[in-house]
Amino acid sequence: MTELVYILMGSNLGDREHNLASAMKHIGALEGIEIVAVSSIYQSDPIGMKDSGPDFLNQVVKCEYQFLPSELLDSLEKIEVSLGRTDKGSRLSRTIDLDVLLFGSQVIDTPRITVPQKDLLKRPFALVPLLQIDPDFVHPVTKKPLAGYLSAASRHTVTLYKDYVSREV
Ligand code: AMP
Repeated sequence: MTELVYILMGSNLGDREHNLASAMKHIGALEGIEIVAVSSIYQSDPIGMKDSGPDFLNQVVKCEYQFLPSELLDSLEKIEVSLGRTDKGSRLSRTIDLDVLLFGSQVIDTPRITVPQKDLLKRPFALVPLLQIDPDFVHPVTKKPLAGYLSAASRHTVTLYKDYVSREV
């Protein structure tokens, strides 16, 4: 059985666009995964960071995945390390951050992983690219359309950075 999984990629250090592309390549090469859609790349101010790094670039990847959420997180953390991330959990600028936003309609709350990702509904930089892929997506817990969580004001904190991104990866 496969689940539809949404992964948020973020980068605000180094060659940010290259970091996103590399991460996507690594994600696509994982066992048991197939990328089915990719959002545009969006830009937003860093929020809640301890240093004053450059803007974040964010992109969402939608995949079909065959294994467990914890196995996906293990794989994503290996990709983060291979792309030079050293600041895990420290709220410093990072070459790459990979978060599991949604794992099918599963609701998981363990010390290791929380899905739906705990800040999803508060983060326009996650909602905007996800809604670009699936505008009518319904939140598995609240059963309300995700689009309802995006106010006009919060929408404007996220700007389109690059729209060319191929959906046929
Ligand atoms: P980070 O924001 O990358 O520094 O991640 C900090 C921690 O968040 C990691 O150690 C993960 O175990 C935890 N975490 C909990 N839920 C998730 C999720 N849905 N996606 C990614 N990391 C998660």
